[in-house]
Amino acid sequence: MRAFDDGILALPFYEPEHRELAQRLTNWCDEHSELWNARTDPEKTELNVIRALGEDGWLSPEADFRSLCLVREALAYADDLADYAFSIQALASIPLLRHGSPSQKERHLPALTRGERVVAFALSEEQAGSDVAAIALRADQTPGGYVLNGRKAWVANGGIADLYCVVARTGEGPGALGLTAFLVPATTPGLHVREKIAVIAPRALAHLAFDNCEVPSDSVLGRPGHGFVIAMDVLDRFRMTVGAAALGFARRAADAALSRSADRPIYDGRLIDLPTIRATLADTEVKLNAAALLVARAAWELDNGRRFARHSSIAKLYATESAQEIIDAALQIFGAAGLVSDSVTERLYRQIRSLRIYEGTSEIQRAVIAQSLDLRRAE
Ligand SMILES: Cc1cc2nc3c(=O)[nH]c(=O)nc-3n(C[C@H](O)[C@H](O)[C@H](O)COP(=O)(O)OP(=O)(O)OC[C@H]3O[C@@H](n4cnc5c(N)ncnc54)[C@H](O)[C@@H]3O)c2cc1C
Repeated sequence: MRAFDDGILALPFYEPEHRELAQRLTNWCDEHSELWNARTDPEKTELNVIRALGEDGWLSPEADFRSLCLVREALAYADDLADYAFSIQALASIPLLRHGSPSQKERHLPALTRGERVVAFALSEEQAGSDVAAIALRADQTPGGYVLNGRKAWVANGGIADLYCVVARTGEGPGALGLTAFLVPATTPGLHVREKIAVIAPRALAHLAFDNCEVPSDSVLGRPGHGFVIAMDVLDRFRMTVGAAALGFARRAADAALSRSADRPIYDGRLIDLPTIRATLADTEVKLNAAALLVARAAWELDNGRRFARHSSIAKLYATESAQEIIDAALQIFGAAGLVSDSVTERLYRQIRSLRIYEGTSEIQRAVIAQSLDLRRAE
């Protein structure tokens, strides 16, 4: 497998340890491809991948964002479920890592890092997706803690997670100001999987119900009323990694399209001799370069303690939208063969779609980017 562009990795955005990590990752994916190539039950595949990633130290909480992006790029190139397994564990660990108390970290982090336990991030509800401030799941205070009542929707790892990070309404203030994040073990009485959701690229995804679900006071992450801040802190950081995963999918499609163009005999020549095909391959190369540079910049800004949120949105928006175009163009180059069930192009065509929706839709990224524009430049 060759998931990376060595020319991009050689740029000063990256340190020698990132280049070394990219090489180890490539080897790891080659050595572990049987984990995802078996194409058995997606939930089992994910659990096996998380365990293997944990055993080999890929779930280390010390990783910087350039490393996280490289891991997602490589795993997405290798397989959608490999990336999904890694990414949800990493995403849902961030609230604990950044806002957990020492005792919460001590209790939960070691098993998550070893891949022995699985975590999920339950923010969305049916009527509160982009509009996070509309969250309705209630957490009412009791003498010993809180009681949770309501529903969560579209929870990645829902049903296979051992621990949920849940954002609920505690009412310290109106809208976004009245939310709190909780750590809720899956075994808590009253917490159920309401429905498992089948989507175009099969994966562990579920709606959850909380019926009089009691949690102690020390399950609050950060402080009461800070749930929205924690959710945005997680999403601002993680969006760039969605761009990195999109880049991995897009590179896989681009490589497949290039091989097909070079191999396919047509009109006494090969597909790659046709000017329109060459133009498509050239456009793909431009988009791959642009996406890789935007992801690298966003991660570099974050790792260097600079303002990064707008770059995270820019990277996610461009990399996911362009990956969709690259994969569509690759499928077109394959002709009818590109549509065959379980072929690389058919799988990628289904797998890329959700990246333009989760962790903030493309429209939400545009709103974030527009908000960040410096209006003084227009004066
Ligand atoms: C595979 C997958 C995994 C997911 N995993 C998780 C998870 O682990 N945890 C979790 O909490 N959630 C998860 N989600 C949910 C995801 O975050 C939401 O689907 C997403 O935030 C969009 O919300 P929505 O689906 O309710 O769409 P809506 O918010 O209803 O949006 C509908 C449409 O309106 C547009 N729109 C909304 N607001 C604006 C605006 N201000 N300006 C312009 N257009 C706007 C949107 O872009 C979209 O096109 C997952 C979703 C998917 C598909």
